[in-house]
Amino acid sequence: MGFRDFVIFNQAMLSKQGWRLLTDPNSLCTRVGLVSPLMHIPEDATVQFLMEEGGKEWNHDLVKYAFDEETANEILQVPISRHGGGMISLLGHMTREICAPGKMKINLWRAAHDCLPTGFQLRRRHIEARDGCAFCNRDDRIEHVFLMCPFSDSVWKEIKQVYNIKLGRGDLANVRQWIFDFLCRGSAIQNTVLAVTFWHIWEARNNARNNVETLHPRRVVQKIVAYVEMIMQHCGPGNVSRPAERISLPSWVPPPAGVFLINIDAAVFQAERQMGVGVVIRDQHGNCLLAANTRFMGITDPETAEACAIRHALWLAKEEGFHNVIVACDCLSVIQKLNSPGRDRSKIGCLVEDIKKLGVEFISVSIIHVSRCSNVAAHTLARCSEPSVCNVYHNETPDCIREMLLSDAQ
Ligand SMILES: [Zn+2]
Repeated sequence: MGFRDFVIFNQAMLSKQGWRLLTDPNSLCTRVGLVSPLMHIPEDATVQFLMEEGGKEWNHDLVKYAFDEETANEILQVPISRHGGGMISLLGHMTREICAPGKMKINLWRAAHDCLPTGFQLRRRHIEARDGCAFCNRDDRIEHVFLMCPFSDSVWKEIKQVYNIKLGRGDLANVRQWIFDFLCRGSAIQNTVLAVTFWHIWEARNNARNNVETLHPRRVVQKIVAYVEMIMQHCGPGNVSRPAERISLPSWVPPPAGVFLINIDAAVFQAERQMGVGVVIRDQHGNCLLAANTRFMGITDPETAEACAIRHALWLAKEEGFHNVIVACDCLSVIQKLNSPGRDRSKIGCLVEDIKKLGVEFISVSIIHVSRCSNVAAHTLARCSEPSVCNVYHNETPDCIREMLLSDAQ
């Protein structure tokens, strides 16, 4: 394929994938990100990416360039400039401020503008679609999917308690107003929870509708809580504060004799588009046998970063001759994927496969979830990583984590 072909190919891909980025949170584009030599839609792109500076109107050229004609026209019809500083541009601003992956913010924004392909919307556009909700068979409208369906209601019931949220569904006039009101009164963490919950409800609804799988609402709640936890960990303390009622969990627990405990963590450096890895390998007495940190380029998605960190740690442990290991990680969603049989079809599927393959080369390996507070040393090492430097400390404890390891061992 010559360069010109490649450019045309990418343009074709962009117009298809770009639309799916906005309509289907599971699309290939949101899974792998799409890089074009002409235009790059960053994985964490928000709708602002398609707007003029100041966010008051669409960047018509860019929208027309990035999408096929029909899609571009549809996007350009969504009013922004007409409302100037009104609710819509404010809503856009507030959505952008949420600390969550771009795909989740875009999903929330699209829900607010009722331009997700619900059954109701598809029929309005004369596209054949199943009438009823996949869970309860009632009319598949936007407010039903996210707020009124017994399925989403069960999800919200638990999420409300965990994050102390008041939904105020009694005042529901339309979803856009409701989201706007929610974001106005919500704390940073609650607004993050809103975006993450909407995304997971939409995903669960699509999976049920396409007969992929029907998750129990409680499983969806677990996924949401794990995801919010991961965001809180990687967004930096300044952006999101933890819920007040969160209690601290037990600290470091030594491994059985003859088994080595590997604490790992990842840190994302958004501005540099890099990730850091921290690895600490200890024996049953708490002696630090190996500590390491390094950076990888181009990875900024928290879940991908965690999976990369696990793969790196296992590779290192294998090279250094540790054959019986427990890998401790504080990212629940990755652990669930690693511990589930069958092929993982999420965006980190190939990393999951790599890790499972690496695991076979050990005499014993298990992957466990630990609380963030018993993983501070690995986290600190990941944060202290330096670009283009790979540090490995044999039988010595790096200064930056000495105190933490001492307090763990007590
Ligand atoms: Zn329903």
